[in-house]
Parts: sequence; structure tokens; C-alpha cells
Amino acid sequence: MIERSNGDWLRRSQAAVWHPCTQMRQHDDSASPAHLPLLPIARGKGAWLYDFDGRRYLDGISSWWTNLFGHANPRINAALREQLETLEHVMLAGFTHPPVIELSERLSALTGGNLGHAFYASDGASATEIALKMSFHYWRNLGRPQKSGFLCLAGSYHGETVGALAVTDLAIFKDAYAPLLRTATVMPTPDARLAGAGETPVDVARRAAAALASHLEEHATKIAALIVEPLVQGAAGMAMYDPEYLRLARALCDRHEVHLICDEIAVGCGRTGTFFAHEQAAIRPDLMCLSKGISGGYLPLSVVLSSDTIYNAFLDDSVARAFLHSHSYTGNPLACRAALATLDIFAEDDVLAVNRRKSAKIAAALAPLAAHPQVRHLRQRGMIAAFDVVTDDAWFSRKFYRAALAREALVRPLGNTIYLMPPYIVSDDEITHLANAVSGALAEALA
Ligand SMILES: *Cc1c(COP(=O)(O)O)cnc(C)c1O
Repeated sequence: MIERSNGDWLRRSQAAVWHPCTQMRQHDDSASPAHLPLLPIARGKGAWLYDFDGRRYLDGISSWWTNLFGHANPRINAALREQLETLEHVMLAGFTHPPVIELSERLSALTGGNLGHAFYASDGASATEIALKMSFHYWRNLGRPQKSGFLCLAGSYHGETVGALAVTDLAIFKDAYAPLLRTATVMPTPDARLAGAGETPVDVARRAAAALASHLEEHATKIAALIVEPLVQGAAGMAMYDPEYLRLARALCDRHEVHLICDEIAVGCGRTGTFFAHEQAAIRPDLMCLSKGISGGYLPLSVVLSSDTIYNAFLDDSVARAFLHSHSYTGNPLACRAALATLDIFAEDDVLAVNRRKSAKIAAALAPLAAHPQVRHLRQRGMIAAFDVVTDDAWFSRKFYRAALAREALVRPLGNTIYLMPPYIVSDDEITHLANAVSGALAEALA
């Protein structure tokens, strides 16, 4: 067998693979400040990724927020091997199978039975679209088709397909496609960083909720749903906000007959300290989207959980009143089995309790950065820690990213926001490694 190096693979990848979220030009020129190195990965083990040149990288962002229990996790691997020998796939229209049934039952139980009906797809953006379509179609089935509009928050990210982009408020992803979109109405964000002098995060949450209240007062008869990322707006730059906003939004949605959709694609599965982020506000959404961590970062899987009220509005003799949405791989048995193995680990290892201790360790490891003159808003919610960097350098985030890789850490900033979102199996030593890489890369990128 010929031993291949990074160089062989990256040249072939650049020629034949069109990479996501990437200006392909920036892979080419290693002398440019915009240079984005392309890293061929040979294998993964635990929190580490290994390339073909004998280098390793600690996965500080869980491979785009998906990986919860490490790469090549023995328990998930074993479950998948068994499933592979049993049933790899069967269509879910007219057929069913144990992994999809068990997963649906367990997800329902995790919501206390409040969201007892699970509808599957393969990626987060599709889950967003399904939730929007369900809400719209619910009102139509009730004879109120004028309730067809959607509300989202400033800085929201709910995916990048055309329907999901309509409720996404990030110009970099959205602007080019604006003419294609049926855009939602953007409400003020409760982002705690917006606090004025003497204001608390709760004050910011109340201010944002007051704006929502006055909008609903006037327009609720034309609105189907409000979609939110509970507690942390991820792609906006880990914008964190007080649970008070969710409590107030829930009450307003109830009063004005508007669905509340919780997009827990990034913040669900224990990421913020509770299994679902919205639990910290003690509220019940009407619809919830899950993806990313739900399969442990193994296979594409997303799910929309819905309330009995919504589900029942589709039950009828008429096929047109049914939710006819489908994807070829809806409810794929391998992906469902990976999700079941992931939920098993949560139960067997008391993961939420373990994560509380790890979150404290992450907080302690990053705490010295609060004194850095160019660091602002050091913040944390469970297993997400972030801070913003004040600099005029347009290429700061690229410089930081490359400097972190040189220190064996995958830490990919969002603009000038640097964050850690490691897999839950990260050890104390690995947390120290990440924190050292972050402070070292910060010094190098700002030099
Ligand atoms: C990643 C993400 C999505 C989109 O999921 P994809 O699988 O990338 O389509 C939607 N909403 C939130 C909050 C996300 O973080």
C-alpha cells in the first residue's frame, strides 16, 4: 500500500470536492492572510483527529457541534455494527422498524410526553422546514390559512436551504439569495451583550419580549409561529440570553395563538447543561427540532417533535390534510441506532452531572482571559464557552484558526468570537490543552 501524505489528498480534494461554507480560492494561496488550510483527516479517536502527516488536532468544536462522545466511540460503533448486520434501511412510508420506534418513544419521554410525535429527516435545515410547514399546515387545516407568517430573532440561524434561510438572519448566508426567499419578520434578539449601563441580562430579555408583545398585538392573526434557538444563538457568535425571554415568549405565543418552535439543533442533547435548553425556562414548545448531536455526530439525522394538538389537526379522511412531507432516508435505521446508542450513554454515564464538573473546569481554564485587554464578554452556558475579541484586523479569525491548528487544536472562530464546544468525553488535561492553545493562538493572532 502506498502511504499517502496530506499533500496528495488535499490536492485531489481541492480539484474534485466543492467544500461547504468555503471560498475555495482561500484554500489555494498559503501566503495570503485569508488562507484556510485544508486538512485531510485519516482517522479520529476520542477528542482527537489525526492527519496523514502524523499531526493531531484536539476537536474543540465537536466537528461542527455534532460529536458528543468522541470519534470512534466503542459503544456507538458496536451498536452500529450490530444494526448493519440486521437492517441498514427501509422506507418509512408504510413500513416501520424497532430503532425508529424506540427512538421516538425515548425522545417523547425526554419531553415528559409533551412532544409525543417524531417526524424524521436527515439534516437540521430540513427539520426547520418541516417545523415551519407543520405550523403553517396546522393553521390551514383549522381553516385559518391567513396565519402564514413566521417570526425569527435578529442573528438567528436555522439552516441554509431556501425555506430555512427565510428564518435565518445572517447576511453572509442570506443576502445573495434574498430574491428567492419568503422572508420572515425579524424580532429584536435578547442577546445579553446588548445590555446598556446598569442593565442585567433579564432586562435585555424583557426589552426584547416587549417588542415581540407589541408586534404580536398588531399582527398575530397573520402569524403561524415564532422560531427561536433557546438560550444560545450559535451561528450569530454564541449569543447567550436569559431564560426569562423564553418564559415571556411562551406566554405571548399562548395569548396570541402562535406556535413556539424551539430549534434545539445546536443547543439540545445536553449542550447547555440540561438535556434540552428550553428546560431551563420551564416551558413547553409546540414543535422542537433536533439534529447535530442526536446521532452522537455519527450519521445525518434530524427530527421534529410535535405536540398532540398539532399532530391531531392532521388526522382526517382527506389525504390533503395529512403531512405528506418525506425524504428518501427518513428514519434511517442506522442513524436511529446511533441515536439510541447516544441516549444510552447519557443514561448509563450520568452525562449531565459529569458535564457540570467539566463546564466548571472549562470556566476555570478560560477565566484568566477575562483580564486580556482585547477580550470582551467571556461567557458560558454549560458546555459552550465563548468570548469576543476587539480588533480591526479583518483576517483575525483566520490567523487565530491557523495559530490554533499549529498548537494541535481545532478551534474555528465565528467572526471575532472564539468559542469552545468540545465533545463531552474531553478530559481535564484536554481542557487544559485547549485553553493553552486558545491563549497562545490569541497572542500570536493579535501580534
Ligand atoms: C446547524 C444548525 C442548523 C442547520 O443544520 P444542518 O444540519 O447544518 O442543516 C439549524 N439550526 C441551528 C440552530 C443550527 O445550529
